[in-house]
Amino acid sequence: MRPPPIRKSLGQHFLTDPRILARIADAVALTSDETVVEIGPGRGSLTEALLARAARVVAIEIDRRLVELLREKYAGEPRLTIIEADVLDVNLGEAAGGAYALAGNVPYYITTPILFQALRQPRALRSVLLVQKEVAARMAAPPGADDYGALSVNVQAVADVEMLFRIPSGAFNPPPRVDSAVVRVTPRAEPVVPHGIEEPFRIFVQTAFALRRKQMRRVVRTVAGRSAEEAEAALAMAGIDPDVRPETLSAAQFYALGRALMLWT
Ligand code: SAM
Repeated sequence: MRPPPIRKSLGQHFLTDPRILARIADAVALTSDETVVEIGPGRGSLTEALLARAARVVAIEIDRRLVELLREKYAGEPRLTIIEADVLDVNLGEAAGGAYALAGNVPYYITTPILFQALRQPRALRSVLLVQKEVAARMAAPPGADDYGALSVNVQAVADVEMLFRIPSGAFNPPPRVDSAVVRVTPRAEPVVPHGIEEPFRIFVQTAFALRRKQMRRVVRTVAGRSAEEAEAALAMAGIDPDVRPETLSAAQFYALGRALMLWT
């Protein structure tokens, strides 16, 4: 079966260089008894490298014609399960049937929702994702850095992020407009934000960053609808200087502030 026409609207940029594919698959650090879930297998080039390293691969692909291609190509491979679905509708832990690692050359048009999907419980043991270079920089940025934002806080609240290596756009067919980078995301043993609080925490942080140039005194009044005195008191309780801006606060400080404001108890 010939590969179907490329659908750019689905973020289809395929990798073929075996050295790059091996580097990505190696970064997942799979043991031979592990299951890896792959987001967007496309024509199966990364899938191949993952199958060489894992016990099982569960690949989730939205494009029916690519699913048909993969089913034909891997008809005799019992270690590969192909799920035709939008990855955002899939519970990754259920799809894996237990503990799992996650890998993917992620479709750019839904990078952020996929990142949050990857951080939902039950979390992957580790995730190796190919994302736009700028997104990788935002995920890994420390407080106060130019790239630091709501995405950095929300990811770092529950996981450690390593920026591993860059991949030039010319390595893809067709080449995307931007360069990419491979990141490894490893859940923290003790997340800053406990299970069940992730969603209100995310909304709080995103709303605060909408006012990233304002001082925290003003941010708390606007975001949490508190008086000046209440805002100052909550900031004092969380040990945060009211003059600083959201872009300097760590995930732990945002969490402490939300507690002081009794946004979660
Ligand atoms: N893994 C392949 C590679 O590296 O050559 C393909 C990567 S390509 C950047 C992204 C893949 O994700 C495409 O195959 C695309 O059809 C698929 N995709 C796009 N949106 C998706 C979604 N919502 N759920 C699952 N797969 C999706």
